[in-house]
Amino acid sequence: MPRIVDLTMKLKTGTPVFPGYPTPIVHKWTSIEEHGYYSNLLMFVEHTGTHVDAPAHFIENGLSIDNVPPEKFMGKGVVVDVSGLGKRASITKELIEESLRDQGVSIGPGWIVLFYTGYDAKAGTAEWFDHPGLDESGALYLAEKGVNAVGIDAPSIDHEPFPGHKILLGKGIVIYENLTNLRELINKPGFKFIGLPLRIKHGSASPVRAIAILE
Ligand SMILES: [Zn+2]
Repeated sequence: MPRIVDLTMKLKTGTPVFPGYPTPIVHKWTSIEEHGYYSNLLMFVEHTGTHVDAPAHFIENGLSIDNVPPEKFMGKGVVVDVSGLGKRASITKELIEESLRDQGVSIGPGWIVLFYTGYDAKAGTAEWFDHPGLDESGALYLAEKGVNAVGIDAPSIDHEPFPGHKILLGKGIVIYENLTNLRELINKPGFKFIGLPLRIKHGSASPVRAIAILE
């Protein structure tokens, strides 16, 4: 029996978001008691909770989330453990290469590279934004390899001026942010990753339900 690891944060009123974004709201709209059926009204930006960025988020005329081929949102996963790095440390090409070498993995199309920082545990605190981030060398390396997607268990894949977003999205590589439970996937390369977005017309991103399947 394959084991499923849920890589998704719970989406609720007050889920922490990137500075400048409104606090998400999950508001009870109908109840079984009153209306006979239960439903909620959702109000939040596309980049809320565990979500995937489309090229259109940073690239003029880049693909919006509704036009990204579904096969980009799944693939063979590998976790790069960067939890030992300091505040706002750079995730470099050397660091990624070393981790992949240790795990005996050579990445390319069809692969999804996930960075374990452990910062999901700090969500909602000031330190949450001190997570390690991809630098230009790391982003260029992943872009050259032509992976399907890159992800992180932190609120952003990088820091200003956003080399990771610009380089990866410019190459059509989608970016998962606010993943969780990546620790369970360390040193288990080759698991199946799936994280499908809503098909929001002209969307810049979408919340996802991201999972890993371990055979
Ligand atoms: Zn985003």
